[in-house]
Amino acid sequence: MEYAENILGTIGNTPLVKMNKLTAEIDALVLAKYETFNPGNSAKDRMAVKMIEEAEASGLLQPGGTIIEGTSGNTGMGLALVAIIKGYKMICVLSDKQSKEKMDILRAVGSEVVVCPTDVAPEDPRSYYSTSKRLAEETPNSWYVNQYDNPANTQAHYESTGPEIWKQTDGKVTHFVVGVGTGGTISGVAKYLKEQNPNIKIWGIDTYGSVFKKYHETGIFDENEIYSYVTEGIGEDILPKNVDFSLIDGFTKVTDKDAAVYTRRLAKEEGMFLGNSAGAAVKGLLQLKEHFTKDDVVVVLFHDHGSRYVGKMFNDEWMKKMGYIE
Ligand code: PMP
Repeated sequence: MEYAENILGTIGNTPLVKMNKLTAEIDALVLAKYETFNPGNSAKDRMAVKMIEEAEASGLLQPGGTIIEGTSGNTGMGLALVAIIKGYKMICVLSDKQSKEKMDILRAVGSEVVVCPTDVAPEDPRSYYSTSKRLAEETPNSWYVNQYDNPANTQAHYESTGPEIWKQTDGKVTHFVVGVGTGGTISGVAKYLKEQNPNIKIWGIDTYGSVFKKYHETGIFDENEIYSYVTEGIGEDILPKNVDFSLIDGFTKVTDKDAAVYTRRLAKEEGMFLGNSAGAAVKGLLQLKEHFTKDDVVVVLFHDHGSRYVGKMFNDEWMKKMGYIE
């Protein structure tokens, strides 16, 4: 018999899938690291397990404890699954721009959901950063995960996602392209791949309204770069410790409209029903096309599943209201 001991045993070893139509104008072989095959339907399951295991090992998380995190939904989903299996209580703190589906899904897997306003500064007491920290201080026997600065986030991708990509491409990967939020995915994968072959190029996908690209290019944290945007899961108004800028070769920014349009195109043209940051990633990849040549093997990582966006990017009325389609 071949079975997993529990659902956590199904995390990782996701497939790599060739892109056939949407990236046809790119000469290189483009392969999608398809993270929705994880049980929580996103790459975040990997780091959720790792962060909890590290917190248990260091004594920060005690039996029967409460896990608290500010999360755009996917990390919350991963943490909630681990919490169920290991017997912890889970509280997710979200900003109100996150889709209703994400909130409903978190509640479905037993998490308490606290919603905070999006358009306030991170240091504002109402922000989801401040609220999660306050809840952690007020709740007895609780642990605040802090995926932005928690090194186990990057470590999970260094230990699993990076080696999988290396093995699946038989060491032939030349470029890795991925959306950047906390930075765990890009930094962990980049560290592993560059250790195997320092010539591998790492590209981050950023949003308009986020600080990453400008900071990477100039070393300046420019507050003028910060404004609210629609794309979910990538871009930040802070510099998380998990973004290792020294491992990243460059960033490209994708507009909210392009991210939404390309999320729909992935579903219709590739049969890849994926989340909003996957649309941003594939559009970013196209923006970078002059960097790729015929013999290159470009891996693009798709973080999460389309079901979380049926009320938004996959809804024609929403797309019209946003002015993204006629
Ligand atoms: N896409 C989605 C949908 C996400 O939820 C996240 C995590 N915020 C990312 C991309 C970015 O991944 P990371 O936090 O590892 O940079």
